[in-house]
Amino acid sequence: MAEKLAQRLAEIKKQIADAAKKANRNAGEIKLAAVSKTRPGTDVKEAIAAGATVFGENKVQEAEAKIKELGRESAEWHLIGHLQANKARKAVNLFDVIHTLDSIELAERLERICIEENRQSLSVLVQVDLAGEATKNGVAENDLLPLIEFLKTCKSLKFDGFMIIPPFFEDAEKTRPFFRHLREIRDRFLPGGELSMGMSHDFAVAIEEGATIVRVGTAIFGERRYKVSSLD
Ligand SMILES: *Cc1c(COP(=O)(O)O)cnc(C)c1O
Repeated sequence: MAEKLAQRLAEIKKQIADAAKKANRNAGEIKLAAVSKTRPGTDVKEAIAAGATVFGENKVQEAEAKIKELGRESAEWHLIGHLQANKARKAVNLFDVIHTLDSIELAERLERICIEENRQSLSVLVQVDLAGEATKNGVAENDLLPLIEFLKTCKSLKFDGFMIIPPFFEDAEKTRPFFRHLREIRDRFLPGGELSMGMSHDFAVAIEEGATIVRVGTAIFGERRYKVSSLD
């Protein structure tokens, strides 16, 4: 199992390097976040031993247990799932980067908590919804400006870039316009900022379109086994 995980991780790194090369980019500017949601801490440990340094979790409670088990300093921890207001304090204390900032209210809350908890700097990415999917989280393009203006006034929150979860398409090429559009938004509002985009089936396309962080779960850890009663 450990060997398989190491092999898969090496294969993903190779594919990242290939995609970067194809796009005339330096692979060193692309960060791989290994998405460890639903995996036990032992899997994360194996991944760390195999060289993974960044992990993405989508639920605060689940991440808390793993981070306590493995140690806050054992890796870089990224929150990639929706953050509920009542979990904001825990998130501030657990994560290095929050990919899912999606409202001014949440930004205000995180900024206040950072100050209360003496957290000097918390990296945040703004999640953008370009599909207008009412069921999905994220800020519509037309609503970005006030949030970004607010983030510029924050002392603790560090506005580092944008994130997107496009609608799922079997054919990864169909996600390309979403990635391209997010890059245009980044170039307009925060040139040089991070672009968190691309998952197991479409990270190569995302890299061609400028991704600086790819979030890869299944391709590293294998198919997920969802628990029926997961609390968040
Ligand atoms: C689960 C998840 C991923 C990883 O998806 P895979 O298809 O397993 O690579 C990436 N980003 C987010 C926001 C996720 O929830």
